[in-house]
Amino acid sequence: MKIIDSHSHCYSAELATAPRAWAESHHEPHWADLVAPLDRPSIQGWATMEQSLAAMDAAGVQQTVLLGWYWQNEATCRWQNEVIAGWLQAAPERFIGFASIHPGGTAASVIAQCEHALSLGLRGVGELHSGIQHFDSSSVGWHALADWCVAHDWPINLHATEAVGHDHPGSVPTPLNDFLRMAEAHPELKLILAHWGGGLAFFELNPRLRKALKNVYYDTSATPLLYEPSIFRRMIEIIGVEKILFGSDFPLRVYPRTQKTPDYSMFIETIQNEANLSPDEFAAVMQGNIQRLLGKA
Ligand SMILES: [Zn+2]
Repeated sequence: MKIIDSHSHCYSAELATAPRAWAESHHEPHWADLVAPLDRPSIQGWATMEQSLAAMDAAGVQQTVLLGWYWQNEATCRWQNEVIAGWLQAAPERFIGFASIHPGGTAASVIAQCEHALSLGLRGVGELHSGIQHFDSSSVGWHALADWCVAHDWPINLHATEAVGHDHPGSVPTPLNDFLRMAEAHPELKLILAHWGGGLAFFELNPRLRKALKNVYYDTSATPLLYEPSIFRRMIEIIGVEKILFGSDFPLRVYPRTQKTPDYSMFIETIQNEANLSPDEFAAVMQGNIQRLLGKA
């Protein structure tokens, strides 16, 4: 079985060498604070394309969705998409690219960003962050983006901050109610909420909300930092296995105490050993669901 990771990130060597200086020169203070803070150690890891491919090979990951980042500037989003396109060109059979989009502007600017991303060979949007990029379900730019993505059958991956939790530095809220508004306004839009949707999945136990959230999916990125492995079984009971997508958040070091360099193996082994999935459930989460979502992979 081939494993497909639905949530990882890629950065250029120039950025990885001096992240803080890079972020300052590109006016990206939130990212600098998150990955290169001055007052605490960072759990960010770095990997070149070759190192990413080696880590995938070591863990049996056949394909990875390279997500963009929720940059605060449209120019940085456009730059990120070029980086992703470079990786896609080098290893088209291993990578699937999603676009960094800044939805804070006009409809025309959002559509232009999407059209350019399409021309680069990308196939979805994300990871976006409503709190950092200053948009919500009523923004003109968001509506244009959602319309465009429905028309092109592109999924959108949104960062979802856990609604309750300790106040870790760099954490910015993403209101759960607004995800519901987005799903209601665009019922055909395939929305992927990162990090298990920040708790939204629980509300699918309300039959009315379950209907409204029918095209909402949840990825497992950063699970080891947030939840115990039993979350897999409990979420299957609440939302069904078909809505869960394996995502790693590579090259984040999701086991910061033991992981010196980023890898996929530790998290995948934990899923195999502790998540208590049947072979069919494992295949759906690790491969089948994202394939279905993308039409073909
Ligand atoms: Zn995220």
